[in-house]
Amino acid sequence: MEYIDLKKQYSVLKDKIDKNIEKILMDSHYIMGEEVALLEKRLAEYVGVKHCVTCANGTDALSIALMVMGIKEGDAVFVPSFTFFSTAEVVSLHGATPIFVDSSPRTFNIDPDKLESAILKAKKETNLNLKAIIPVDLFGLPADFKRIRNIANKYDLLIIEDGAQGFGGSLDGKKACSFGDIATTSFFPAKPLGCYGDGGAIFTDNDDYYDLICSIRIHGKGEFKYDNVRIGLNSRLDTLQAGILLPKLEAFEEYELDERNKFAHLYTEKLKHYVKTPFIDNGYVSSWAQYTLILDNEEERDFVQKRLKEKGIPTMVYYCKPLHKQTVYKDYDFNLSELTVSESLAKTVLSLPMHPYMNGEQINDISNAVIESIEAYKNEK
Ligand SMILES: *Cc1c(COP(=O)(O)O)cnc(C)c1O
Repeated sequence: MEYIDLKKQYSVLKDKIDKNIEKILMDSHYIMGEEVALLEKRLAEYVGVKHCVTCANGTDALSIALMVMGIKEGDAVFVPSFTFFSTAEVVSLHGATPIFVDSSPRTFNIDPDKLESAILKAKKETNLNLKAIIPVDLFGLPADFKRIRNIANKYDLLIIEDGAQGFGGSLDGKKACSFGDIATTSFFPAKPLGCYGDGGAIFTDNDDYYDLICSIRIHGKGEFKYDNVRIGLNSRLDTLQAGILLPKLEAFEEYELDERNKFAHLYTEKLKHYVKTPFIDNGYVSSWAQYTLILDNEEERDFVQKRLKEKGIPTMVYYCKPLHKQTVYKDYDFNLSELTVSESLAKTVLSLPMHPYMNGEQINDISNAVIESIEAYKNEK
């Protein structure tokens, strides 16, 4: 059994993907070929924003967003501590200060109450210029953007939505990657919409931001490529990856997102009386980048994971270390509040196989194995 079955997906989409790859090889426009612009148009339409600019990966997408907003040394950016490293890494990369905020134990996403208290504390206790918040749509579920937007307005902060895992999710019918002043996503192969290598995209409704994003993506270009008006990056999406993503986006829209939701629902129905299953509040749709359980304690989590492995069922722990516990941030001064929820989640989460090419029988087998493992653990106690 695969944790995410990309081979199965390719076998279903093979004709369309192969045709696009062959066409691009014949054209030989490997950089910024016509598929790139077409994909950007489709992505912007899907998400419902004015502009989409693709780039080399989801980390660069965040980096470009920070550069567009002019975030630099002396600035503070609020980030969840329970997320992938990139979310905070880019803040430090540009010399600014990430301030870690704890997550909600129900949604895994940044906790708006704790965000507001971290902002107040940072105002009082630091000399930093408070600039932005990077909420993450963790495991596919949009963050609480209604409350986060109010907080951002109240304290005059910008929002960068890290939608690397969120693409396809929605809140009150509005799609993920449309909630930030700038939003970003990743096409890393294992994400809800993945390519066959690295890739990413940036979304915005703001025309001035759009111009800056286009410039920064290609060496800070001005009128043309050899006119450089600012420091930028080399961060384009390969034409080949755009050609692979076009049919994948079609499948994602037509049935993959629905299939993910169908399987998540089946898992929850099977498991909800035995273990803490993911909580999706009214109005929210997840794209199920991960289907993540919360066990009672670390010992039980590790026991269940080991037992599932013995039964041939792959699982993952996202994330086993909150960011403020990472070696690089170990002696760091700006953890202004308790981060106990993210510390506890790191010890108790377990993600099950999730992709759109599963079947009901597999969900049943995995769920039964989870239930059996939990019972075996309880019996041993
Ligand atoms: C994957 C991921 C990224 C980075 O994307 P890459 O394309 O791997 O650079 C950033 N943030 C989150 C939350 C992610 O899951």
